[in-house]
Amino acid sequence: MAQQEGPERTRHGQEHLTTTNEQGRFCVARCTCGWRGPARRARSQARADAEGHATAG
Ligand SMILES: [Zn+2]
Repeated sequence: MAQQEGPERTRHGQEHLTTTNEQGRFCVARCTCGWRGPARRARSQARADAEGHATAG
C-alpha cells in the first residue's frame, strides 16, 4: 500500500533563516518566518537572539 503525500504537506517544516539588521545604534535580529528580536546594542547579542529563535523553532 503506497501512500503519496499531497501538495498540502509541502509547506510543512518551515525554515528559519535569520539575519541581523542594524537600526541606528541598535541591531535587531529578524527571521524569514516573520519573527523579530528585540533591539540590541551589540550585534553579537542580536545574533544570539537569532540563534536562540532558530533552535527553539
Ligand atoms: Zn523563524
